[in-house]
Amino acid sequence: MNDTAVSVKGLTKVFGRKPKEAAKRLSSGTPRSELGPGVTAAVIDATFDVKQGEIFVVMGLSGSGKSTLIRTLNGLLEPTAGSIVIHGTDLATADAAEVRSVRQNHVSMVFQHFALFPHRTVLENAAFGLEVQGVPRAERLERARKVLDRVSLGQWADSLPSELSGGMQQRVGIARALTAETDILLMDEAFSALDPLIRREMQEELVELQAELGKTIIFITHDLNEAMFLGDRIAVMRDGAIVQIGTPEEILTDPANDYVAQFVQDVDRARVLTAGSVMEPARAVVPQSAGPRGALRVMRDTQTGGAFITSTGRKLEGAVIDRHVMRLVKDGQPDLASAIKRDIAMVSPETPLSDLFELSVDSTLPIAVVDENQRLLGVVPRVTILASLANVPSTTGLLPIIDPVTSVSPADIAETLEGSHA
Ligand code: ADP
Ligand code: MG
Repeated sequence: MNDTAVSVKGLTKVFGRKPKEAAKRLSSGTPRSELGPGVTAAVIDATFDVKQGEIFVVMGLSGSGKSTLIRTLNGLLEPTAGSIVIHGTDLATADAAEVRSVRQNHVSMVFQHFALFPHRTVLENAAFGLEVQGVPRAERLERARKVLDRVSLGQWADSLPSELSGGMQQRVGIARALTAETDILLMDEAFSALDPLIRREMQEELVELQAELGKTIIFITHDLNEAMFLGDRIAVMRDGAIVQIGTPEEILTDPANDYVAQFVQDVDRARVLTAGSVMEPARAVVPQSAGPRGALRVMRDTQTGGAFITSTGRKLEGAVIDRHVMRLVKDGQPDLASAIKRDIAMVSPETPLSDLFELSVDSTLPIAVVDENQRLLGVVPRVTILASLANVPSTTGLLPIIDPVTSVSPADIAETLEGSHA
């Protein structure tokens, strides 16, 4: 089965005089800025596939060509060059009737400024897409009502848009797009006009809706945090060209060029990065069977004040700190068990970094990342979490590692290990 919803190849859109000629000059190397007065290459040689059920974000500064790109995708603008294949139909070569059919059956659009009909009720607005499709009135109102309930607007069905807040109005815009039951949603700066808190709420709801309904969403934004939060993948646009396509993590940790790097400088990393993506190998790991002396040796060799203790299969049992282990060694105790602190912070690799802040506050050890069988996968040192808070560019591995403060001196450890022969 082909799981590609939208396939774009070499898409170019030029506004102004003799666009096709300008497109040819672009492809033979003429810079965008030298196309002549009144000629704007809004989209240049864009190539990407969007998978079914994916949230694909197009991000770029104002004027970078995002809206032009999305308008060619829904057939509102004709491409100057290249192809746009949606469910097997190439919009660039299809006739008007075919383009209309793709738009009606596959593509819905949500706009920044809601674009609701002011004199129609919320319900009628939500049913609009079905009206265009020629669905009988009773049926379309019934279907629209269900969708309104889904976006928590049921009791506003008979209100006018002006009676609703901005966030609610945009819910109507989304309801309208959902009611049309197309599989592709195009959203152009759909949340950009909303207050930050509402906006955040809408982002979370959109992710939920997507998970529930499996729509393919192409979401345009100039806001990197939004892009990072929503996108399964992100295409970064600059001056009409796509300069990088990648997952939020790839964009964040491996920006393709300085432009992308600058863009990602002020992203809220904590919302994007997960424990699994920033974890490092744990340095001080001791099998419980190594006993107190073994544990103390490892802590000395790694110059740490604490160690993770594992049982068979690297299952994480807990952690010890040097002081307690030293006590056992001095007492000639062969077993580590009594020194193991078992209620240490353990998280799954999917845990967002933002959830680790609290955990890290009362943990002197790095936070342990474990799989579903509680096997130790790695650790997230406190400094990594703090760096993400401060937005310090933090490439895994380059960070200084702060381990738990050693509470006993190396000399004490040496003396203990030499002095006892348990
Ligand atoms: P964005 O949505 O990223 O802000 P746009 O796609 O709206 O960018 O615009 C990209 C470029 O194309 C801009 O330079 C803009 O002025 C130009 N442009 C957009 N639409 C038209 C049009 N209909 N006619 C001429 N130029 C246009
Ligand atoms: Mg725009």
